[in-house]
Amino acid sequence: MQADCVECGLCSRDCAFLQEKGSPKIIATAWQEQGPSSLLPYECSLCRLCTAVCPKGLDPSAMFLAMRRELALAGQVRFPEHRPMKRYEALGRSAWFSWYSLPKGCETVLFPGCSFSGSRPGVVAQLFDFLDEIIPGLGLVLDCCSKPSHDLGHQADFDLAFGQLRQILLEQGVRRVIVLCPNCDRMWREYGQEIECVNAYEILAEHWPAAGSHPARKQVVVHDSCALRFDKQTQDNVRLLLDRSGCTVQESAAERRKTYCCGEGGSVPFLRPDLAEQWSRKSVAGVKGLLVVTYCAGCVNFIGRKVEACHVLDQLFEPGAGGRPVKAPRTYWNRYRLKRLFRRRPQTGQCGTRQQLSTLR
Ligand code: SF4
Ligand code: SF4
Repeated sequence: MQADCVECGLCSRDCAFLQEKGSPKIIATAWQEQGPSSLLPYECSLCRLCTAVCPKGLDPSAMFLAMRRELALAGQVRFPEHRPMKRYEALGRSAWFSWYSLPKGCETVLFPGCSFSGSRPGVVAQLFDFLDEIIPGLGLVLDCCSKPSHDLGHQADFDLAFGQLRQILLEQGVRRVIVLCPNCDRMWREYGQEIECVNAYEILAEHWPAAGSHPARKQVVVHDSCALRFDKQTQDNVRLLLDRSGCTVQESAAERRKTYCCGEGGSVPFLRPDLAEQWSRKSVAGVKGLLVVTYCAGCVNFIGRKVEACHVLDQLFEPGAGGRPVKAPRTYWNRYRLKRLFRRRPQTGQCGTRQQLSTLR
């Protein structure tokens, strides 16, 4: 970074964090010469907008994640402000909320993730039934991908938790995971190893009925997830699905590769809510009163505080119902209800909590 960054300023044009701290070259030099700063890497949202715009092909976001890992490894930093994230993750893996329904011969599972399950349990059930028609023997896994630990730089915690999840599935014969959450998507693609990761929007785009006539088409703006800013296929699939559900997508200046973080990224709100707020404001500027549709439940919650927002799967399965931010404890109650719903369904194979299915205890 020190040798290659030419300090062109492109990455700091939209990033208040870099405007405050200086170019990635300045930051890297100070880190090396003056020693680590414990707060600094936790002020970056890890949104990779800098990576998307850098003309030298540099990845400042990866540098900030590496700095977090360096601090965590040296045992230098565990901010008490991050405890809620760690608790959230641990609860997702706990016997209270984890659940595996794996029919006999199951090779593919739906992995809806904590955030979506907590805000839209009814949509998860409908999506599962839709996919089950296409993929006989589909399983369901309610568990946490442990991205909070990953992004906090607690790589050892992440490796242990994600490794256990992957091992359970491999032992049960699962070879494919269908995800909807952009964060789960990134974790499964990067760390899933033998387990293939498929995006639900890809399957839906192939099988969702073609558009009928929609006399009153709804004008919407898409907020692309920063976690999938480089995934053009998913971005296209989401737009295709919106078209089929009777929406017309208005293009916006900050979309796809150039999308903004909704404000939630990198757990920045816990330590620098002002920086998180700047991203939130940017991501809704230019919306012009239109409905904002995204494909990340976390983004709906954040953006939905400022403008009307919903998830693309709301548009498909419960048009007109979604959109309001859903908060704890409601999210936990929803996840508990979802688990109970699947527990009560007839089981033909293996089922249980993470703890019951794990041989790595
Ligand atoms: S865009 Fe790339 S080259 Fe330009 S200042 Fe940022 S990191 Fe350096
Ligand atoms: S990852 Fe996002 S928040 Fe972090 S430096 Fe890059 S643009 Fe700024």
